[in-house]
Amino acid sequence: MSTNPRLLLATEEIALSRTLSWVLKENRYDVVTATETPQLTERLEQEEYDLLVFDVALGEPASLALLEMVREHPDHRDTPLLVLADKGFTPEALEPFGLGEADLVQRPYRIRELLARMKAHLRVGRELNRARAEARSRSDLVAILKEVTTALEPEQIYQILVRRVAQGLRITRCSVVLAEDGATEGTVVAAFENPTLRELRVDLARYPEIREALRTGETVMVEDVQKDPLYEDVRHTWGAEIQQSLTRSVLALPFKLADQPAGVFFLRTTQDDPPLNRSDLAFAEQVIDAAMTALQKAYELRDKQGNTELRQLADSDPLTGIPNRRVFDVRIQDEIDRANRYDQVVTIVLIDIDDFKRINDTFGHQVGDTVLKGLAVLLKRELRTMDFLARIGGEEFVIILPETGGTGARLFADRMLRRIAQHNFGDASSQISVTASAGLATFPDERIVDRESLLKLADENLYRAKHAGRNRYRD
Ligand code: GH3
Ligand code: MG
Ligand code: MG
Repeated sequence: MSTNPRLLLATEEIALSRTLSWVLKENRYDVVTATETPQLTERLEQEEYDLLVFDVALGEPASLALLEMVREHPDHRDTPLLVLADKGFTPEALEPFGLGEADLVQRPYRIRELLARMKAHLRVGRELNRARAEARSRSDLVAILKEVTTALEPEQIYQILVRRVAQGLRITRCSVVLAEDGATEGTVVAAFENPTLRELRVDLARYPEIREALRTGETVMVEDVQKDPLYEDVRHTWGAEIQQSLTRSVLALPFKLADQPAGVFFLRTTQDDPPLNRSDLAFAEQVIDAAMTALQKAYELRDKQGNTELRQLADSDPLTGIPNRRVFDVRIQDEIDRANRYDQVVTIVLIDIDDFKRINDTFGHQVGDTVLKGLAVLLKRELRTMDFLARIGGEEFVIILPETGGTGARLFADRMLRRIAQHNFGDASSQISVTASAGLATFPDERIVDRESLLKLADENLYRAKHAGRNRYRD
């Protein structure tokens, strides 16, 4: 794409259009011409120009109407406009359009003067278009951030932010420092100037703007660190280094998320960067603002995931993945309470593998583990959704059968033990069979006053089953 200034030349006079085009192209302008109304409308819709050159001839109503159309077009309203007119044209006709002597060139043209005028207008037009393009890319940026950040990790969001902000402002140093108000140290979690950096501790004594931003919750902008009173102490203490770092201006934008770390976005320019101004500040604030929601979400998601994972880890038996003793204790208490409240029954079935030591001794501990995992799967398969299975000891499992009395529980235990005895816990090449014994206890019962006595009764019954020869249950 050409970077030459681009102008639109609208005139009905074909000879003029050709000559001017040629001269302007020689002077490295990109010229687009329009010699009739439909063409002009089309050109105006197509693109933006750095300058519009518009021939109104004698200023007939038709051409003034066209001029008005250009002036009111949203894409061209602000574009500099140079009017060409015939000798008899009265410049007052331009007043309603906000144009005056400076924007008018009347025939006969002197090409050199015309060029000089165009150049002057083009300079303004280019600046304006550049500013516009920037504004556009900035609002694009906000949109991008909003999208991109939603599903990411907080650290990734920080990385994206420092990169985007640094690029958007064309500065080389932009970082995120996490710190609480009043802290003496902060942690740099992302830095554009050092993308591989992770969690660098920094002494906040050297960063008065960060401390100030955290304290006030307001953006701190220091246009010149060499002069700003905020830096007096730092200049005194770190004088030599400040000189060396050549930092010119700094911007510290604080942020605070609910129940999450607080910190600042820390932007710095050196003598080589363009200085930071108010619109840079507005831009940075805008981008960061847009990212805050996403950041908060990312943190919350991580907390939630972390919590569920942690809880699952703490609640389950690592070998079989089923609930452990601690969870069983809570659950059985709930079931006893419920049975009490609603006049219901609940049975627990305590299951212990027979001669499990022999399995370990014969096949090895690892095979023993496989049997335990296999038993957990088998038992789970037999349960109703309201039932509950836990591993409460080495080769001891317990099942809670809510709303189940003695008769139902006996049927269940019988079926269960038969399934276990029939099951191959090894594989096709090496069959492994085990049996198990079970002890039942049903609440309410005069011997049961709490969950301990419930479990004790089941354990006594299990012991009786073992004594009676194993591979059976007792209640
Ligand atoms: P019985 O219950 O029939 O009286 O005999 P047993 O051999 O099962 O007796 P006991 O309860 O004394 O032994 C249990 C064995 O289970 C001892 C221990 O090595 C084994 N064991 C306990 N936890 C695990 C485990 O996580 N993995 C494996 N492989 N073995 C375990
Ligand atoms: Mg045992
Ligand atoms: Mg055993």
